[in-house]
Amino acid sequence: MLGLMQDQPLLISSLIEFAERHHGDAEIVSRRVEGDLHRTTWSGIAARSRKVANALDEDKLLQSDRVATLAWNGYRHLELYYGVSGSGRVIHTINPRLHPDQIAWIANHAEDQILCFDLSFLPLVQAVHARCTTIRRWVALCDADKLPADSGVPNLVSYEAWIAPQSDEYDWPDMDENSASGMCYTSGTTGNPKAALYSHRSTVLHAYAAALPDVMCLTARDSVLPVVPMFHVNAWGIPYSAALVGCKLVFPGPGLDGKSVFELIENEKVTFAAGVPTVWQMMLGHMDANALRFSTLNRTVIGGSACPPAMINAFQQKFGVNVLHAWGMTEMSPLGTLCTLKNKHLAMPADKQTAIRMKQGRAIFGVDMKIVGEDGKDLPWDGKTYGDLLVRGPWVVKEYFKGEGGDPLVRDAQGRGWFPTGDVATIDEDGFLQITDRSKDVIKSGGEWISSIDIENIAVAHPAIAMAACIGVAHPKWDERPVVAVVKKPGAEVTRDELLAFYTGKTAKWQIPDDVIFVEAIPIGATGKILKTRLREQLHDYKLPTSAA
Ligand code: ADP
Repeated sequence: MLGLMQDQPLLISSLIEFAERHHGDAEIVSRRVEGDLHRTTWSGIAARSRKVANALDEDKLLQSDRVATLAWNGYRHLELYYGVSGSGRVIHTINPRLHPDQIAWIANHAEDQILCFDLSFLPLVQAVHARCTTIRRWVALCDADKLPADSGVPNLVSYEAWIAPQSDEYDWPDMDENSASGMCYTSGTTGNPKAALYSHRSTVLHAYAAALPDVMCLTARDSVLPVVPMFHVNAWGIPYSAALVGCKLVFPGPGLDGKSVFELIENEKVTFAAGVPTVWQMMLGHMDANALRFSTLNRTVIGGSACPPAMINAFQQKFGVNVLHAWGMTEMSPLGTLCTLKNKHLAMPADKQTAIRMKQGRAIFGVDMKIVGEDGKDLPWDGKTYGDLLVRGPWVVKEYFKGEGGDPLVRDAQGRGWFPTGDVATIDEDGFLQITDRSKDVIKSGGEWISSIDIENIAVAHPAIAMAACIGVAHPKWDERPVVAVVKKPGAEVTRDELLAFYTGKTAKWQIPDDVIFVEAIPIGATGKILKTRLREQLHDYKLPTSAA
């Protein structure tokens, strides 16, 4: 017997309709590429996203055709999110920090029809347009009078001129909730990038989940700043969850330096912000240097790479901001776990609570996870045993776009498919996940594993260290030994021996790095994460000190 409830598909268009009807006057503030601040509302976004949908119809885009973006976080990008997906097309957010060759490859692989870009990416578009064979229209996200003459880009139109003649009335189509709605290519540190293809259903379910109290706890009373880019797994789903709760949204545009982000937080009374650790590092540095304090920010979600305990402590203790450490990946839309305490933890002493907050957190309802050994068998949840982390759920990929890479799933005894995350982790008795490392970054020393994340976290807890990256270097006896590359804070001093001594008592003796390499900068990839592959290349000729042999 089937239930007798209404069979209404979960569609992205319902999010924007809801936001317009119930929270139409909530503000959307954007710092634009032009440098000024732009203000609109959920009603404004809804009306203009319908114009986008009409423009796509006039351009004769078919259902499921891809519309790409190379854009910062801003209101026009948000209008595209809703206009493109709502009308049944697929929004393909491209990471502009990728190499131009990779961008051209991705646009062709996705068979993008239209590409919308912020003017700051015009040089990039000029470099790649001739190689993008499927794109028939280029849209510059600007006013008509800002469109550069003689750009050399064919079929170029300004966004405002493109949507101006269109009606702001549009009947969002009914469709199967499993229809594709968005796509995002993984960073592709090895081989060609592969695309996760999200559906309306997966996106709406993820939006519900992300807003839950033990996840981002988003409400209509919040002013939310996604510093995490909309080209980086849909800004962790915030543009969708924000419509679902009707909060104010604040978009930083291209201004991601510490000063700009801090000023935006203060001026727009931001209560909740989200970003990767590298962005927060810049902001905390700026605040320290200028003795600044927040007046409204009360929580921030930090993820994408391990958040160093020193940063969690700085936010918490110095600035009174609650840090929610999160873990996820492109293939998971991206949220998997988020760290909030349980009732039984509330009576614990502060240091024990802090130790829990350092972990990546508990699974969100909708994400099943487990750790397995080399034999594929489940490992215990004891907080010590580490293994390969597998996940499944309605917002986890089952395969990549165009079947690239074959069937990625691992089947269990019941035939259910689990996605191997490529991460090595422990899970404790209470279900708190802790990422040990990416499986390709973990250091294998004398048959034991050393977590490069642990080694980095200790280094950045030293007052003189701004950034650290630990890699394994081949060793004749131990297989691999850890060395740590560090960037000093401006004006700060620390010697190799002082830093090595700092490890004493903070980790097992055999896990202490064999050497410290002082570098000017550590290579950062397109999503703000440390590029260990590049660092290994840079340190290709590096030799361990002989005393370590
Ligand atoms: P995203 O685009 O969301 O950053 P990617 O697919 O580029 O996702 O990378 C996902 C990987 O990033 C994870 O598999 C994991 O290795 C790493 N990662 C994400 N969040 C964390 C975290 N909080 N701590 C440690 N590693 C993390």
